[in-house]
Amino acid sequence: MLDDAGVSKILVVTAHPDDVDFGLAGTVATWTDAGIEVVYCIVTNGDAGGGDLSVSRADIPALRQAEQIAAAKCVGVSDVRFLGHPDGRLEPSLGLRRDIARVIRQVRPERLACQSPDRNYARIPASHPDHRAAGAAALDAVYPDARNPFAFPELAEQGLEAWVVREVWISGSPEPAHFVDITDTFDRKVAALRAHVSQTGHMTNLDDMLRGWLAAAAARGGLPQGRLAEAFQVLQIP
Ligand SMILES: [Zn+2]
Repeated sequence: MLDDAGVSKILVVTAHPDDVDFGLAGTVATWTDAGIEVVYCIVTNGDAGGGDLSVSRADIPALRQAEQIAAAKCVGVSDVRFLGHPDGRLEPSLGLRRDIARVIRQVRPERLACQSPDRNYARIPASHPDHRAAGAAALDAVYPDARNPFAFPELAEQGLEAWVVREVWISGSPEPAHFVDITDTFDRKVAALRAHVSQTGHMTNLDDMLRGWLAAAAARGGLPQGRLAEAFQVLQIP
């Protein structure tokens, strides 16, 4: 695994606003605390999310973008990019692969974090079809699209040179093997999730729900009693 000391930039790719905060905001805070620049690439505007029927659907994208930008600030992230693909009907299309490869070539991260393309039967909400599609497209964008100078030649024509991402961290994987202790950044993760008011404003048990998930992950990772963890499958890309 790459030593964080040798990592200068990390790109996080997720399907919806709030996914990064449920999945890995505590870990993101540990990265930004270590001086690493983290950039978010959010594939949709979350325009099919939320249950408030009094809010016009046309107003949702701007609302959810603003919430994600506010949440990012809670964990030290100021660069948030939205690709504007359709929420609720995302496919790992060539167009999505190209759009993620474009951001990879712009940001040039050593490490990329994304959602699992595999269905996790123990955690069906983490395996939302959009999450799996975004994860599959992100992995394909890492290998081979971003690194192959002849893939999507329009990117090279825009001056975006090929870039090799060396490591991928998968959130929501059915087979996590790396557990990050986020006990010290838990409060910022909660603050980030609270920034998604349209999604979490009604959740009176958010803290307890999170502590339950994160304590279970810590136990699975063999961390001491009382610790909280986020779980990942880490891939080295040759
Ligand atoms: Zn989601």
